[in-house]
Formats: sequence, structure tokens, C-alpha cells
Amino acid sequence: MPRMLLIAGTGRNTGKTTLACKIIRKFQFRPIIAIKITPHFHKNIQSGKVLIDRPDLYIAEEANATTLKDSSLMLAAGAQQSFFVMATDENLRIAIDEICKIVPVNSLFICESGGLRHHLVPGIFLMMKGIPSENLKSDAEILINLADQLIIFDGKGINFDFEGIEITDNQWTLKQAKMIPFEKAVETAKSFVITPATGRKNLFNALNSILAEDVYSDISMPPFNKSAMDGYACRKSDLENQLIVIEEIAAGTIPTKIVGENQCSRIMTGAMVPEGADIVVMKEDIEEISPGIVQCIRDSSKSNICYLGEDVKAGDQVLQKGAVILPSHIAILASVGCVQPLVYKSPSVAIISTGNELVEPGEKPGISKIRNSNSYQLGAQVQQLGIMPDYLGIVADIEESLKSLLALAIEKYDLTIISGGVSVGDFDFVPKILKSLNVNIRVHGMDVKPGKHLLFGERQNHFVFGMPGNPVSSFVQFEVLVKPFLQTLMGRTETNPLLYLPLAEDFERNKGDQLLFVPVSFTESGAILPLEYHGSAHIHAYVGAHGIMEVPKGTSIIKKGEIACVRPL
Ligand code: AMP
Ligand code: MG
Repeated sequence: MPRMLLIAGTGRNTGKTTLACKIIRKFQFRPIIAIKITPHFHKNIQSGKVLIDRPDLYIAEEANATTLKDSSLMLAAGAQQSFFVMATDENLRIAIDEICKIVPVNSLFICESGGLRHHLVPGIFLMMKGIPSENLKSDAEILINLADQLIIFDGKGINFDFEGIEITDNQWTLKQAKMIPFEKAVETAKSFVITPATGRKNLFNALNSILAEDVYSDISMPPFNKSAMDGYACRKSDLENQLIVIEEIAAGTIPTKIVGENQCSRIMTGAMVPEGADIVVMKEDIEEISPGIVQCIRDSSKSNICYLGEDVKAGDQVLQKGAVILPSHIAILASVGCVQPLVYKSPSVAIISTGNELVEPGEKPGISKIRNSNSYQLGAQVQQLGIMPDYLGIVADIEESLKSLLALAIEKYDLTIISGGVSVGDFDFVPKILKSLNVNIRVHGMDVKPGKHLLFGERQNHFVFGMPGNPVSSFVQFEVLVKPFLQTLMGRTETNPLLYLPLAEDFERNKGDQLLFVPVSFTESGAILPLEYHGSAHIHAYVGAHGIMEVPKGTSIIKKGEIACVRPL
């Protein structure tokens, strides 16, 4: 088989020919052989040379570049030779072999087929969306497996961004891989992170930093047997008796007397329990009989003593490297005397929004304009991780403007987050610009909804995320992908907790062909309730959401009571 790019699909008017012509025009500098394949035997070729004319196989070479027939349009677009083939599945290979005999060696084939003809073995299979029936679905699966590379395209041919396609050594290749599973995208992005630099931070400012060292306690805690109550320290064996008060011990002082038989010391919370005493009776459980003489009036057996080293022993590890420093950790650091913890340096983050349609939120949008919500949403999401990003503003969809700002941002910041311009529209310049700036695009396209066009790229420890412009896609993809990546970039090794909870009602979707993220709230009984969600532009869907539920690929129904996985927000 020659190296082939197959554009196929079963839908009508999906723009297959438009797309084929567009690609041919783009790569005119190579000998491209165009083939229009149809299973329907209707010999509508009037011009050109008929190579084979059998009831089960018909091949003709198109000679006229001026008609509206597909083979003619592809010739006009710049194909070196263009053919029209009508063949049964079995004869397709014969047809290709016959064509190979009369075209230059090493020609690249671009085939456009109305059906999913899996007897072709394409290098790149560009599948136009719209598979109407189940049996065709299996044909599609065979083809997907046969192809080295796959693009599933669900727009009109005219909108196709063929920047991903490249010709090298007379081969069609894709600069990007097949749509990758979401989990693979997360792993790929994280795999480029190296351990960040470290520095010491004042304890007071260390909140949300990531610890770069294991922390050990230099003392035991409590450092002495400590009273947990205001009360009287005495011997358990004397609880029935009247007791003589021998001293008063305040917190921070050292007891001077040993508690003997039928004796007690008045003691305050946090004070050192005196020698001889093995219980502190709460003040409320004691009655003063006469000045200096007390008696326990209620059954009291709890010791109310926090024993030396009960919480932490000197030398114990109290915090682990890679942990995010939370307020409770600050207390531990303080109590073990770690006043300048070693932490990872925070990455610098820039946020840029692209789009001719955007105005800043302070402005009232004119006709055809919308307010830029993504920059502020992304900015807040980054801040929640303890990093203050720089907002670099809105850039219009003008290649030169975008390129100069991106060049600057990628150079200066550890992470540049770009909103918009990464999908397949005519003005989605981001992937192209990044490539021209020598950014290696490692992820562009994931098998997930919302946010399948997300882009991740890297250039020498500088990273770029291209976020889908739709606010919900941007929000969700930050939570599920950018956040864990950024946490890794910050040096964090702990993973974010996932919850596994039962559904409060049935959840159903039409197609289960992608991993889906859905906004949910938590009910009072601890179940999850999927929220109304109209799609990736539905900015209100997440207003009352407590979490993002994962609906796995292949699952279209989750019944009430069944367990689903949720990322809490
Ligand atoms: P794009 O990914 O650039 O094709 O944009 C997809 C959709 O998201 C379009 O409807 C945009 O108008 C919208 N969009 C893009 N950027 C933003 C933004 N910064 N804030 C709000 N909506 C946006
Ligand atoms: Mg845009």
C-alpha cells in the first residue's frame, strides 16, 4: 500500500472534498495523487482515460480540472493526477495497485471515500464525524485500528486545521498523536516536570507552599505530663477521701511539692502534673469542705492527663516533603521550632486570553462581543493553589500580535495559560504559533468532554496550556488537568482526594463515547445530584456545584444508588 491519507465518513456534505482540496493545496510541492472512491456504480466520468472497466471495478483518470466533480476539483487543487474509482471492498486493493503502476514512485495518496472502506490501510485516517449505524461503527473501529494515526473531525471540512499534518520523507504524518485518553494527557504533562528549586520561607508566610524537606520534631509533645483540665491533681486511690490542698500550680510553672496520701494540688489547664498524682479531677467535680480541704463529689475515673510524648516523641517525623502547608501544618511547624521551613519555589504563571470577540468585564459588550470571563476564572483557580499569576490581557486573533506576546510570556514565565484559539476554527492560531516558537506540543486533543481540544506544550522547562475558550471547558480542564500539573510543578507529591458516592438519581447521556465531566451537588444524605448542564458554554452550571463527577468512557447510564467518582471543588 502506498502512504495514504484517507478522508472518510458516511455523512453527506461533511466537507470531505473541500478538505481534500485544502490539504492538496497546502502540500502542492509534493506529488499528490488524489483518488475519489465510491461503492456506487454510476459511471459519471465523461472525461479522462478509463483504465479498467469491469462490472466490479472501474478506474478512470480525470483529465478535466474544470468541472464540479470531486475528482476534477482535486485535480484543480493541485493533485498531480486524480482518479475516480468504483470498486467493491474486495477490489479496492487491486484498484490501488493498478493506480500505483502509472503514478510516480513514492507518490502520496489522498483518498476521499464516501464509505468507511477498511480494505484500505491508511497512514492517517481522517474520520468525518457521523457514523449512522452500528455495523458501520465496527467498520470505523477496524479502520481506526489499521491507521497509524487518526483524526476524528466533527466540523465542516472548511474549518479543518491541518497544521497537525506534515509531510516528511514522502510520508504523511501527524505532528500530533491520536486523540489521547484523558489520563494519558495528565501523565504526559506531568512527565516533563523536574523538581523545582528550593528556598527557606518565614513560617508566617509559608501557607500553601510545598515542603521541600521532611520535618522532624526536636522535642516530645507534650513535653511533660500536662493537665487537660482546671482541677485538682491527686492519687486515684484517694478519691473517696477528703484531700488537703498543698499547692497551686499555674500553667508555665514548675510544681514544688510531691502529692502524698490524701493530698492534692490545685492545677490549671496546661500546667505540669506534680509528682505523686495520677489523676486530675475536674474543678466541677470537687466540693470545698472547708478552706484548704476538698472532696470529690462525683464518680471520676478519667485521668485528664496528657502524658509526656503521647502525641509526638522527640525525633518523630511530623511532616513529609511534598506536602502542601496548610494552617494546621503551620501549627506543627511552630511547635517543633521549624520557623524557616525549606519549601519549593513557586512557579511563575501568566494568563492570556485570545479572541476578537472579547472585552474586559468592566466594559459593556457591544454587538457580537462577550465579556472575558476566562482570564479571571483561571486567575482565581491559580490563586486557590497559592500562586498569584500575572494577567497579560486580551490579545486579538491576529497572528503577529499573539506571536509576540506568547514569545515573551513563554520566555519569562514557568507556565503560560492561554485561553481560546486552540480548537479548529480559522482563527485558532495558538498551535501554529507555538510550533513556530519551538514549543513541543505534547498533547493536543483528548478523548474527553468538555475540553477535548486542550493543548499542552513545553520548551526547556517552560510550559504552556492552551485552554478551550468555552468557560466551562476551561474551568473543568483547569480542575482536572492543569491543577494536578501545576501542583506537580510546585513540587507537591500528594494527590487530590477523590470521593466515591452514590447517585441521588439516574444519570443518562445519549452517547457514551468519551469520558465526560459533569457538575454535581452533594445532597444532605451524602449522595450526588447531577446538575442541569447544557454544555461547555453554560457558565452557570457550576455555580451551585460541589464537585465534578466522572462518567467513564463507555458508560451512558449510571443508576440511582450506583457509585460514581467525584472530584470535590
Ligand atoms: P475558542 O476556543 O477561541 O474557539 O472559543 C470558544 C468559545 O469560547 C467562543 O464562544 C468564545 O467566544 C468563548 N470564549 C473564548 N474566550 C473566552 C473568554 N476569555 N471568556 C469567555 N468566553 C470566551
Ligand atoms: Mg477564539
